[in-house]
Amino acid sequence: CGIVGYVGHRSALDVVLDGLKRLEYRGYDSAGVAVLDGAGALAVERRAGRLANLEARLDEVGRSHFAGTAGMGHTRWATHGAPTDPNAHPHRDATGKVAVVHNGIIENFASLRAELEAAGIEMSSQTDTETAAHLIARAYTGADGGDTAGDLPASVRTVCRRLSGAFTLVVTHADEPDTIVAARRSSPLVVGVGDGEHFLASDVAAFIEHTRRAVELGQDQVVVITRDGYRITDFAGVTAEGKPFEVSWDL
Ligand code: GLU
Repeated sequence: CGIVGYVGHRSALDVVLDGLKRLEYRGYDSAGVAVLDGAGALAVERRAGRLANLEARLDEVGRSHFAGTAGMGHTRWATHGAPTDPNAHPHRDATGKVAVVHNGIIENFASLRAELEAAGIEMSSQTDTETAAHLIARAYTGADGGDTAGDLPASVRTVCRRLSGAFTLVVTHADEPDTIVAARRSSPLVVGVGDGEHFLASDVAAFIEHTRRAVELGQDQVVVITRDGYRITDFAGVTAEGKPFEVSWDL
């Protein structure tokens, strides 16, 4: 239901939790976060229920495990799978290196799931979203037989071309600690442009306290954000342009 992503110089956990709070008005049944520590580790926690449940869990495991300046968060409005901890986002592949949050519905998830299970992959949730995490992981290692190994944006584009339905996806990889990749089809995604920091969100409300410079992504586009910039392509990898705008209203 709500999505926030961040790469910059502040605590990603703080930025992401603040952003999720600003999206709370939309309603949700679960929440989760993923933070890249910059040294190859990806910390993930998710909980059914209010954001307060997630925050209590973060205090329990220790917020120091979430010290990093790149990360993402999600509030879920369940469409596939009950609102439980295992169904809450982020979803990961079996190695735990890839994490995905998703708004919307992957309509062909049943056939994708069957294909993954036939390849020996075990699912750990009932969601449509989890299929995307496994598919992206396989594209990134080259296990899918494609030519996108080691290239996260290309892996995301390859998988997006196989998905039907409406989706905003945000993807992190433990081996790409300074980068977050996101994609959209028929579901909103906006980039927030700051100085030495960039944001992703389903709604500008998530980052408006940090920057009012925004770029709206067009249909079937992928964006890569880093601390210093953003780059947009279509699902085929051709450079594309989003729609820049200035948020002039107050919240
Ligand atoms: N279809 C996904 C799920 O049920 C995402 C739902 C959402 O937009 O929050 O987990």
